[in-house]
Amino acid sequence: MEEEDLAPVLSAEANASMGLPRKKSTFDLEEATEAILKYKGVFELTSMRKVAEREKQFSEQEQKLRARMIKVRHKIAVISGKGGVGKSTVAVNLAVAFAMHGHAEHIGILDADIHGPSIPRMLGLTGQRLQVGPPGAFPASGTLGIKVVSMDFLLPDENAPVIWRGPLKMTAIRQFLSDIVWGELDILLIDLPPGTGDEPLSIAQLLPEMDGVVIVTIPSKVSQVVVKKSVTFARQLGMPIIGVIENMSGFICPHCGKKSDIFESGGGHKIAEELNIAFLGSIPIDQEICEDADRGEPFIVEHPNSAASKSFMEIVKKIEDFLRQKAKK
Ligand code: ADP
Repeated sequence: MEEEDLAPVLSAEANASMGLPRKKSTFDLEEATEAILKYKGVFELTSMRKVAEREKQFSEQEQKLRARMIKVRHKIAVISGKGGVGKSTVAVNLAVAFAMHGHAEHIGILDADIHGPSIPRMLGLTGQRLQVGPPGAFPASGTLGIKVVSMDFLLPDENAPVIWRGPLKMTAIRQFLSDIVWGELDILLIDLPPGTGDEPLSIAQLLPEMDGVVIVTIPSKVSQVVVKKSVTFARQLGMPIIGVIENMSGFICPHCGKKSDIFESGGGHKIAEELNIAFLGSIPIDQEICEDADRGEPFIVEHPNSAASKSFMEIVKKIEDFLRQKAKK
């Protein structure tokens, strides 16, 4: 039996199976096949066009990203294995310390913590919106002209959660790098969320020229275990490790001046030695650090003579040394 003869038979059988009369079907297999092929062709063409458009958009954005980032001399990511160890506090105070150390108006912070942005609050920029002009969106400007970009500036209010999966977060981070008019910067600090998830991975892929990462930890054993994960993560992605900072390293009583090692201390130093990475310094627990952050006033500006501020300034010098050495290589 020829193929085209099959259609009415099949149709008649189908009718019979449904209890309908076996009448001759008007179904035309050739017409149907042609229609299907046409639809398939149109579908394939549309998909190919969509892929091509997406690829074009991607390469345009990549070019934009490269053009923006070429004006940023150094990119440094601040990471931690766990949350709550003071990573954002360290990122903010390092940014201010760099600005105070001859880089005012030329420091940027990208708050790449999409789900829990906290940089704007710490710099008193909550509620700001990114201003958009013909060249793109402009960062908010904080203390000493520090340029800040955060998801927080795009949310309707501070309590609104961001419920996004990985690819969307990567798109947002890519746009933060390509569509923001960062201008000429000496250093862009990137505050990443804790752990080794989508955001650090995106940054590592989008900025292969990253100068290095600074790892923040606290002295507790639990925190040290996860530091190892951060170190392995950075090494696997080929990001140089600038060094480790031990935050919340002892508490100096404001009344008697005696030091109490609340989380022990020296753990950061030990882990740095063990993993053969540089130890950048330790920041003590200081009630003012927390209070200033909540008020949106950078601690290091408010209390420049405190032990913690001095330590931040020393760390900045070590990071500058690292950048100088790297430039020589
Ligand atoms: P992370 O970014 O690691 O989640 P944060 O920077 O948000 O941590 O800090 C968590 C809390 O600890 C904040 O309230 C911050 O003000 C406080 N904090 C951080 N470092 C110190 C410190 N050295 N002394 C006192 N409080 C600190």
